[in-house]
Amino acid sequence: MTVKPMKVRLVKTFDFDCAHHLPCFPEGHKCRGMHGHTMRVDVIIEGDMPPSQDYLIDFADMKAAIDPLRQQIDHKLLNEVEGLGIPTVENLAKWLWDRLKPALPMLALLRVYETPTNVCEYWGE
Ligand SMILES: [Zn+2]
Repeated sequence: MTVKPMKVRLVKTFDFDCAHHLPCFPEGHKCRGMHGHTMRVDVIIEGDMPPSQDYLIDFADMKAAIDPLRQQIDHKLLNEVEGLGIPTVENLAKWLWDRLKPALPMLALLRVYETPTNVCEYWGE
């Protein structure tokens, strides 16, 4: 008898402090001025847990993929981060996705919280 693989999602969350200014917004818009955030990111992977293994991926492996990226953005001015462009939450989500996906092929969704109530979801399309 074959055991059906179990589909699961794992979420690894990290946060970081940063500053940015967003010249893409109109003159007078509050986001054009330099300001800071404590942002939070949910890194969500999805896959079939091998029945012989009893876990999908070691959370420590997710942390190992995330940490070098977190170092590039924590306590940084995001406008100066290589390859990020204008650091809107949308562009940040794509920047993170492009760098995490090779290390975490099962990456399914990123949720980037600019504030607790402003969130961008990105799934690589
Ligand atoms: Zn902002």
